[in-house]
Amino acid sequence: MLENSFQTLPPWLHAEVTPTPVIGARLVHAHPELRHELGLQSLSDGELLTWLNGQSRIPGDQRIATRYAGHQFGVWAGQLGDGRAISLGEFVTSSRGRLEVQVKGAGPTPFSRRGDGRAVLRSSVREYLCSIAMKGLGIPTSEVLALVTGTEPVERETTETAALVARVFPTNLRLGHFELCRHFNRPMEFDALTHYTRELFFPECTIEEMLREITRRTAHLMAAWQDVGFCHGVMNTDNFSILGFTLDYGPFGFLEDTRLDHVCNHSDHEGRYAYHRQPDVGVWNMERFLACFRDLVPVETLTRILDSYFHDFKAETDHRIRRKLGFSTSRDTDAGLFLDLLRILHDQRIDYTWFFRELAQAGFGRVSAIRNEALAGWLKQYAERLVLEGRDEGERSLAMLRNNPKYILRNYIAQEVIEAVSRGSDRELLDWIRILETPYDEHPGFERYAEPTPDAFKHFEISCSS
Ligand code: AMP
Ligand code: MG
Repeated sequence: MLENSFQTLPPWLHAEVTPTPVIGARLVHAHPELRHELGLQSLSDGELLTWLNGQSRIPGDQRIATRYAGHQFGVWAGQLGDGRAISLGEFVTSSRGRLEVQVKGAGPTPFSRRGDGRAVLRSSVREYLCSIAMKGLGIPTSEVLALVTGTEPVERETTETAALVARVFPTNLRLGHFELCRHFNRPMEFDALTHYTRELFFPECTIEEMLREITRRTAHLMAAWQDVGFCHGVMNTDNFSILGFTLDYGPFGFLEDTRLDHVCNHSDHEGRYAYHRQPDVGVWNMERFLACFRDLVPVETLTRILDSYFHDFKAETDHRIRRKLGFSTSRDTDAGLFLDLLRILHDQRIDYTWFFRELAQAGFGRVSAIRNEALAGWLKQYAERLVLEGRDEGERSLAMLRNNPKYILRNYIAQEVIEAVSRGSDRELLDWIRILETPYDEHPGFERYAEPTPDAFKHFEISCSS
């Protein structure tokens, strides 16, 4: 059932647009489960393709782009908006509630500024795979219903080809939607947006409780990113979801060789969004967002809500550290022990994901990554800590294997899939969808992708252009 609620908001917040179909469109993949959940299984592949490509309609659908704003790299960026993404409708599903389908790369909108409204194949494949990977890791994320490629050339640093990803999420609302209304002094729109968000997504909450919950979700998301070594790359407030899920995949990257100051976005010269800064950026973004509510909520309350971020982030991080290290009990020294390990992994540039899997699998005296005294010393402390657990070694190992993935989306893996899809081969994409959906499982034949990234495939430079 389609129920396009965003259109009930004041007209200044959205615009009706006509998609510009991609030339030579081909449906590479549609996710069967999502298709089913959305009730789109009765559409043939051809019908789904023409709908996503703006060449046909289904009853009750819409074509809108929304206006938002935001802070980009710490600076107020003014009005932005969906410059290349068009919403085709909000489905109210029986299993998952409200799910909006939004096609990224669907052509220019009134918010495109100087952009061409397109997304390239490279970034579309990366978005598809990473949203699958995040979901597989249990981290809140936008999802992808389908990937469409075209033959149309698109100019970026080089000439690339156009593609579409049909994203799916409960709502496209970003922190930047609220910043927009506040900054451009639109109290009526701001109130409508606040009322809308509360009614649809936080129906049991007062405004204060809603803000507290959004803050909590953001803190938890940051803790989850840090846990799996995910670097977002462009943590601008316009890329932060109001529901606290991962949104707008661009030059993201997972830690491969551990570098705590890793900057995955080649265009981020100052390292503002470096891995170890992400939790602080999360609170910085929440501060921008909460400040929009000054007229509605007393400033002391807003300060208290902002402060709750630190508590929530710490609690979630502590919980994740225990899971990651295989502890069933909690000790005050656990966070320090984990930080010591991170420092060693960083100093020795040990592969982040591989190391924890190794730690999970090997008896702790037999970790093959032991290269020097620092790590050997740490493992000794870890062994002492485990004695306090009284937990069976096999049980610890199993628990750790459930919480430390074997497979993450390494840049070179994404690159292999991009090249395969560009050649017209879809098998690699299907393989990696399957693997990334179940990253804690064994995948015979793919073991080498769980090893540290080969030297020849390190140092990919991913820029903002997409
Ligand atoms: P992003 O870096 O993808 O989060 O985009 C930041 C802003 O630029 C958003 O408002 C996008 O809609 C817009 N944008 C990015 N790329 C394009 C493009 N090729 N055409 C039009 N707008 C774009
Ligand atoms: Mg964005």
